[in-house]
Amino acid sequence: MPTFNGYRCSICGSEYLSGQALYLCPRDGGNLDVVLDIEAIKKKYEPQDILSRTETSLWRYLPLLPISQPEGDSTPLHAVGWTPVFTLRKLADELRLSHLWLKDESRNPTASFKDRASAIVVTRAREMKSNVVVAASTGNAGAALAGMAAAANQKAVIFAPKNAPQAKVAQLLVFGAQVILVDGNYDDAFDLAVQASKEFGWYCRNTGYNPFTLEGKKTAAFEIWEWWLEAHRDWHDEESALDDHAPLTIFVSVGDGNIISGIHKGFKDLLALGWISRMPRIIGVQAQGSAAVANAFYAETEIIEPVSAQTVADSISVDLPRDGVRAVRAAKQTNGTYIVVSDEEIIEAIARLGGAGVFAEPAGAAAYAGLVKAAREGIVQSGDPILVLNTGSGLKDVRAAMQAVSPAPIIEPSLAALKKIL
Ligand SMILES: *Cc1c(COP(=O)(O)O)cnc(C)c1O
Ligand SMILES: [Zn+2]
Repeated sequence: MPTFNGYRCSICGSEYLSGQALYLCPRDGGNLDVVLDIEAIKKKYEPQDILSRTETSLWRYLPLLPISQPEGDSTPLHAVGWTPVFTLRKLADELRLSHLWLKDESRNPTASFKDRASAIVVTRAREMKSNVVVAASTGNAGAALAGMAAAANQKAVIFAPKNAPQAKVAQLLVFGAQVILVDGNYDDAFDLAVQASKEFGWYCRNTGYNPFTLEGKKTAAFEIWEWWLEAHRDWHDEESALDDHAPLTIFVSVGDGNIISGIHKGFKDLLALGWISRMPRIIGVQAQGSAAVANAFYAETEIIEPVSAQTVADSISVDLPRDGVRAVRAAKQTNGTYIVVSDEEIIEAIARLGGAGVFAEPAGAAAYAGLVKAAREGIVQSGDPILVLNTGSGLKDVRAAMQAVSPAPIIEPSLAALKKIL
């Protein structure tokens, strides 16, 4: 782990060595950024050293991670990341866009983006000789932690709100985690997980609390960088690929704000290394009923006012986003913006993506709903290259999926009956 210098507070800028802080800034509770030894990495590696690696998982980016690779057999821990990017030609035509892609994070081992964070956190827990990891989750972070902990032979304790979707609770239980359903919302579960972590000495994976989640999530940015170089090999030589066109615009849904901040961090690392010379544009999408980060963005403040969250997209239903400040900056510092979509628009997006062969849970489809709105309002132009992230699988929330479609007819098993309904 030669590349990890310690932490820097995203609010006050205080720096801490790795033994001096564990979660938030001891001074002001700000989120901590992991500080890499960029100069050391630069001396040791060139982009080609990454691009030529044969590893097809997030461990491909080990030289840029503050962690050592989990040893031993191939397990689901070794299958996180390196998710496919699809061209959405039909949807691009509908929206009058020329270049539209989707990166499908539902292909991760537990079927959401959260595996990236959990793979890194359980590996960190092992380095710290901590055998119990705990998290609060609306579902996916817990499922990811439970699955990754099972793969790493660690014990996971998960606090989830009692109304979390069944499929997600089933995942937690099948992965063998100790699951505790809280008679309250995600925010209540979050606080209880922090308290339990302090009381029992468990390592806490909470999103927007543990600095290592961001380090896992940033690997999606590295994959996008590699994919982008590849996608433009025909257009230009690699060095200038990111510069000669409109910047890549990335759409991502936002709850706590850790995914969007992680993607921003990944590109900031690449910029600091000099491996890219320009940032992509990052656009955050929130549900109308859970828009605390978007509200702060529009009010041009970094003070995040909690809301009383209510949306069909449970994975982005958050009263008080725990990574709100960095999430505001991710859009602000990349010439991006925030877009707010209604539950109806999210449900409609599930159907549209389904028509392209992609099955997204509401929070995953929200990013596409945001693009639809952005295209309509001229926030993106027809020539802009656009990448939408589907952050979670539709199988996670079948009840929401059924709202996006008409029920199938039931008929007698006869041709006559069939002809009647065709
Ligand atoms: C967690 C999650 C998000 C949002 O990530 P944040 O870091 O909370 O902003 C989006 N989509 C899915 C499917 C998720 O599980
Ligand atoms: Zn601070």
